[in-house]
Amino acid sequence: MSADDLRVETRVVHAGRPPREEDGPLSEPIVLASTYHAGGPTGYGRDGNPTWASFEEAIGVLEGGSALVFASGMAASTTLIEGLPVGARVAAPTSAYMGVRTFLRERGEAGRLDVAFADVTDTDAMLAASDGAAMLWLESPTNPLIGVADLPALIAGGHERGARVVVDNTFATPILQQPLQLGADAVVHSVTKYLAGHADLLMGAVVVRDAQMLESLIHGRHLYGGVPGPVETFLALRGLRTLALRVERAESNCGVLAERLSAHPLVERVRYPGLSDDPGHERALGQMKGFGAMLSFEVAGGVGAAERVCASARVITHATSLGGVESLMERRARWAGDADMPPSLIRLSVGIEHVEDLWADLERALGSIVD
Ligand code: PLP
Repeated sequence: MSADDLRVETRVVHAGRPPREEDGPLSEPIVLASTYHAGGPTGYGRDGNPTWASFEEAIGVLEGGSALVFASGMAASTTLIEGLPVGARVAAPTSAYMGVRTFLRERGEAGRLDVAFADVTDTDAMLAASDGAAMLWLESPTNPLIGVADLPALIAGGHERGARVVVDNTFATPILQQPLQLGADAVVHSVTKYLAGHADLLMGAVVVRDAQMLESLIHGRHLYGGVPGPVETFLALRGLRTLALRVERAESNCGVLAERLSAHPLVERVRYPGLSDDPGHERALGQMKGFGAMLSFEVAGGVGAAERVCASARVITHATSLGGVESLMERRARWAGDADMPPSLIRLSVGIEHVEDLWADLERALGSIVD
């Protein structure tokens, strides 16, 4: 049976293992080396590492391309963007991870790039912004508005306009969405989140199909030097093995919480594509295998009420980040980079705890608004 015949749940367990040899280890060991004996292809630890190679093979198999690891999602994203020539146009979403938006805005203000922002859920607007673009940067579902972009239409439209199309697949993971199969040129991950899954490391990855793009990213990583440590890479690969199970459980929890939050009198709006009346529902059905485990909600009573909800939770942790086994929530507009988001919007990363414990905690936390 070839790897191509295997389902993603099987691939995530078996990809990136050492060869099956008598007494060989099942997992690639942590190789702590800055330098290698001369004569081989690696030579130096900024250019390669056997533990990286295993993780890269696994992510490459899951996304359907060639993967490179980086020190963080931002190192992966900025290395990709910095490969563009001076003055190149980049079209990017008005709602996407704030670090990438800030980086692009600042590069635009500095005259390094010509950046056009548009609403990624508005396909016409996003394609209009892509006219003359060298790169179309997409994220779906988006952070923190959980908007769903029409990936097939944007990828095709971006290509017609001559742009390379990049998709940040951090929220969906390759379990639910494979943008390279939809025609994208590159996929970016904050491995820190779902792929590693345990809130204990930072790492990033880019996966591409084109050999020339891969070569230029290898060169960019060599020069910018944003590489991960072998220990982090080992932990990320270990976390990756349970990705399918974690996503399945977290998504099932998220669906229940989204329905119940929608019916709560102190909740004004829930954003989750799994809700049948969500603007992204039909698109998600068409291009994803599930709806993911990220939702956002706005509470009655504004910023003060939202802060109280976050501070009152006892099972859900009041903290930034997402994609781990533990549920986290925070008011996104507390960050300067997301100050343009709805002020009382709380982003909830649903973990794998028992759903009734999560709901009891949310109900209790919402009760703090009127206490
Ligand atoms: N992309 C998305 C969608 C994110 O949510 C994040 C971080 O929150 C990043 C990229 C950046 O990743 P990292 O924090 O690993 O640098």
